[in-house]
Amino acid sequence: MPYRAGTRLPGERASKLGHLDVLNSPLVQELCRSFEDSSPPGVPATMTWSPLPCTGEPLPIVFGVDGSFQVITGTTPPYKALAFVKTALFRLDQPALAALDRESPHPYALRDILKDSALYHATVFPMRHIVVPSMTVYDAVRHTIYESVKDAQLDGEPMETLKWIAYEKWDGQKKNLPPFECPHCESRNATLPYDAEKGSCPDCGKELFITDMLGFHLEMAPDAAPDGVARDYMTIHETLLLFTGIRYYWERNREAFRRVLFVKDGPLSIRAQYSKLVNPIRRFLHMTRDVGNPVCIVGQEKSGAFADHLELIGDHAPVGSLFIPDHQYIREQIQHRPATGAPYGKDTNYGAKVFVRLTKRHKMVLNIPTGKFVQNPTIGNLIGAPEIFATLPKLLSSRYEDALLPVELANAVASLSTYPSVQILAMFAEATVKGYP
Ligand SMILES: [Zn+2]
Repeated sequence: MPYRAGTRLPGERASKLGHLDVLNSPLVQELCRSFEDSSPPGVPATMTWSPLPCTGEPLPIVFGVDGSFQVITGTTPPYKALAFVKTALFRLDQPALAALDRESPHPYALRDILKDSALYHATVFPMRHIVVPSMTVYDAVRHTIYESVKDAQLDGEPMETLKWIAYEKWDGQKKNLPPFECPHCESRNATLPYDAEKGSCPDCGKELFITDMLGFHLEMAPDAAPDGVARDYMTIHETLLLFTGIRYYWERNREAFRRVLFVKDGPLSIRAQYSKLVNPIRRFLHMTRDVGNPVCIVGQEKSGAFADHLELIGDHAPVGSLFIPDHQYIREQIQHRPATGAPYGKDTNYGAKVFVRLTKRHKMVLNIPTGKFVQNPTIGNLIGAPEIFATLPKLLSSRYEDALLPVELANAVASLSTYPSVQILAMFAEATVKGYP
């Protein structure tokens, strides 16, 4: 990079001629030719596509979950910023699915489905330069996360689900929360007694929320929160909505798991410090399979390294086949890293990655739970695979490429750009930043 101009002297000019010598190198010339060559790269030799296991009964009831977030920043200094997060869960049963026109769903038909069988959650976080009396942004975001998970519109059900997962209530052992880092004194002894939502730090005595165990505060400065906090809250809340449905059936009607498929937009994973929920979730899913009530969950990953890799390999796959990449394949072919080191996804994923070619036109990256972590999963490890693959052909969208209807509808419900409109949010944000909340 050339030097920039100062107040006294002009900046350095980048020399165009400086590139000429390096372009004369035969190796560099070869690389440039190869870069411009548009023929597809070879497909890795270490992959085997297997026929889809469609031997189960299709599942007649489908739940879809999705979320979206948007950070709105003021256009003038100090560039105040608010983040809006929205999540949704809805039910799609066989009659609703049959009535839906897959080419162009009628808006009223969608409205009727969503009116009777959808839950919404929306919240807003003060990210930067927003004054909340007697609170830093750090504490304001902590309080907002806690109050948002308790959302009265949803009767506090996501909070019940967070407690159910964090305390692993299904196992009846009534244990305290595993220790986490206190948001006030950084002691690592912070904990809460069984079933508590709030308490105090054993070292500094200040107030703790159960949502502090997730560690949002580890990413925030006293007066600013990065945009990632909104994204991670969205992921956590999607997971809580998904498991609110699962908890409901587990507590009231376990037989229903034979008829229900849960579909999440995005991977079945929770990143970084938030991944504390992953091991309890895995233990729950493992146990449900052991006791004969397996829960069918599938996540569709539409972007990122796995989706990019599918573009390379998908067209070579036979129709009606799947490929489950193992640890070594993921490290070397997808992440382009050495296969040594920690097993891929051990701490963060509760679903195995599965490349699927359903029809000539539909290929996708799915995530399907295996219960306990499996480093090199096989079809037999995927919970509910025969039922899931018997159901998916009934859920294909005709409107979008490689799309599943529940994901398409969940996008429509949760998308901030359509509901409510970005203009409304921007207007609201303007009013708030100007001091008229
Ligand atoms: Zn403390």
